Amino acid sequence: MKTDAHYDVVVIGSGLGGLTAASLLTKVGEKVIVFEQHHKPGGYCTTLHRKGFEFDAAIHYIGYGGEGQFFDRFFSYLGLKNEIGRVPLNRDCVDKFIFPDFEFYCPADILQLHQNLAQAFPHYHQSIKSHARALLSIDRMSNSFFRGMNLWDYFSIPLSLLPTTRWVRASYQSYLDRKFPDPKLQAVLSGQWPNIGEPPSNISYPFYMDIVTFFLSNPWYPRGGSQRMPDALVKKIQEGGGEIRLKTPVKKILTDGKAVKGVLLQNGCFSAKGTCSGSLSCRFQLWRTWDDGVDHVRH
Ligand SMILES: Cc1cc2nc3c(=O)[nH]c(=O)nc-3n(C[C@H](O)[C@H](O)[C@H](O)COP(=O)(O)OP(=O)(O)OC[C@H]3O[C@@H](n4cnc5c(N)ncnc54)[C@H](O)[C@@H]3O)c2cc1C
Repeated sequence: MKTDAHYDVVVIGSGLGGLTAASLLTKVGEKVIVFEQHHKPGGYCTTLHRKGFEFDAAIHYIGYGGEGQFFDRFFSYLGLKNEIGRVPLNRDCVDKFIFPDFEFYCPADILQLHQNLAQAFPHYHQSIKSHARALLSIDRMSNSFFRGMNLWDYFSIPLSLLPTTRWVRASYQSYLDRKFPDPKLQAVLSGQWPNIGEPPSNISYPFYMDIVTFFLSNPWYPRGGSQRMPDALVKKIQEGGGEIRLKTPVKKILTDGKAVKGVLLQNGCFSAKGTCSGSLSCRFQLWRTWDDGVDHVRH
């Protein structure tokens, strides 16, 4: 097997997961090579052009873009804060749900959402309140998770999440059926399901609540289009001595027992000093890399 001593780590795929891992590894001095099967980097976070128009392949808005939040910290850490402009979305209406007989404007603010829902569905005031409380607790948990938890967080966040524990194994639909039997209110409370790609009956309660919290917390869009993000990360990796090899599908991850030995490419095997797969979600990769250091990610 060909070993390229020049590289410390192989990353498979240049989606946001792979590029996040690769750029953080580069930041701590590792030499990374990224193999990408497509002709451009970014995975779902790419743009495409048709008849003079630019389209996003997937991304239409992103959460946690406020000062000190996840993306602010991530871009600052990599020195990309000015390179990736964050255009904030309209806080009064981040999503507009249009139904045959009514419309609902979803604000990018959990407290405001609570007020709007309580006004539109006064009979469900109590359940709406506990729903909003759950969203606020999840929001606090996610933000403190990335910011670093203090002692107070360790006690107070699990306590505030206690009322949600009975739903952790439930589908979001069964939660709605139990707490909000009104079909109109259910439609509003599940209005973001196209973002997830599955109807509420196929989504777990924790996942739906987590994703909605993410989208409602300082949503933003990358100035210049979603391709700006992978392009900026690629530039950082290259500046740090790394390489992105496009149109290079990895056919197989080669292992020996539990150890990863390298990757099989179209034209043969390739190995570096360590190998990590980039097909995990961006947040997961980032957390692992930041929290435990590089070695943890490699294996
Ligand atoms: C329709 C849709 C809409 C979305 N909208 C939003 C949104 O508005 N906001 C938001 O925050 N998130 C949104 N998402 C989610 C977001 O796009 C993804 O979570 C994120 O881009 C996933 O990144 P990833 O690196 O995990 O995977 P991917 O983006 O899938 O990247 C994987 C990469 O690996 C490459 N690859 C795979 N196999 C190989 C191989 N064998 N060899 C070499 N390369 C390989 C692929 O070509 C790809 O480039 C949306 C997703 C979809 C599908």
